[in-house]
Amino acid sequence: MSGPTKDDILATLSRITDPAKGADIVSAKMVSGLVVKNGAVGFALEVDPARGAALEPLRKAAEDAVKGMEGVTSVTAVLTAHSETPGSTPPPAAAAPKGPPPNLGLAKEGDKPIPTSKDTGPIDGIDRIIAVGSGKGGVGKSTVSANVALALAAQGKKVGLLDADVYGPSQPRMLGVSGRPSTPDGKTILPLRNYGVTVMSMGFMLEDDQSVVWRGPMLMSALQQMLRQVQWGKLDYLIVDLPPGTGDVQLTLSQKTRVDGAVIVSTPQDVALIDAKKAIDMFTKLKVPLIGMIENMSTYVCPNCDHEAHIFGHGGAKTEAENLGIPFLGEVPLDIDIRTSSDGGTPIVVSKPKSPQAARFREIAASIIDATAEVPA
Ligand code: ADP
Repeated sequence: MSGPTKDDILATLSRITDPAKGADIVSAKMVSGLVVKNGAVGFALEVDPARGAALEPLRKAAEDAVKGMEGVTSVTAVLTAHSETPGSTPPPAAAAPKGPPPNLGLAKEGDKPIPTSKDTGPIDGIDRIIAVGSGKGGVGKSTVSANVALALAAQGKKVGLLDADVYGPSQPRMLGVSGRPSTPDGKTILPLRNYGVTVMSMGFMLEDDQSVVWRGPMLMSALQQMLRQVQWGKLDYLIVDLPPGTGDVQLTLSQKTRVDGAVIVSTPQDVALIDAKKAIDMFTKLKVPLIGMIENMSTYVCPNCDHEAHIFGHGGAKTEAENLGIPFLGEVPLDIDIRTSSDGGTPIVVSKPKSPQAARFREIAASIIDATAEVPA
């Protein structure tokens, strides 16, 4: 791993002061959802929604300070309403704003508001929606989503991948797509495509320097656009890479369409598994069928001496799945090629299809196909 740690970033952020509070933004507990991955940094500043627009300079200052740190390759800082923090699930009706849904960049001013109450059923042309979730960030949920999507495509399936991880959208980078989807008529969105997979990301909805207060209703509106205004075409599978945790996106997705199954990714440590259990519990409450659990970053085999080490422990997810009575879909090793290939935009399923690691992802994809063989009417 390269780049600064979370503590380094918090130290930098603690030099930024919110004049209205007379305190730095870390001591004022405004920083949340900090994610650091190999120099790519994402975080939210929790603010009073009434001060939203006025706080853009503060957001920009925080973003610029982190951008200036050595080893930082990209920074995404967003403003979020503190009453609806990432991970909370406010009642959508109570939180719904007055007026039309916010314009997040791709829909034009004056367009009809997106229906938010009627469209709750399956999406035309999409046979199955599979959610990939995790209890916490950094466990490899996006890596698994990308490789499983590609493995499904390699098996002849028509596949879409929706990157709904608002706090750290990484699928464009993992799948090597750049540029912005176009919206020829201001109503429908043409997604991007690579390696036979159709890709759309919540990250595309933001202008480069745009600050967005990702309140529950905004997430709901953005997700609705992603699901119903994107020209997905005919898909056997739409894989949804969720944000970590149990928050508004998960809730909205299951309320606004039919989710056919959920896959939970966890690393083997107890602490990750405790969070994974919360995610499983949430899907159960939302009545989303659980396809199973994947243990990522399981065994590490030294490429020089073949020694096997269990850096984060081993087998915890399998035992947990057995305890919970849900299927265990397999282990993915902690492997340098998995990391470099995904982070470099050529996931291992396409860059080294004959490797044992790619075979693991294909086995997991096959289990997902088996578990969702019947398309509900
Ligand atoms: P999440 O979506 O859960 O936040 P990511 O998929 O972005 O996690 O993975 C976090 C980091 O860990 C990335 O740099 C990714 O390349 C790396 N990673 C994920 N899975 C593995 C693995 N099995 N072996 C090695 N590195 C991995």
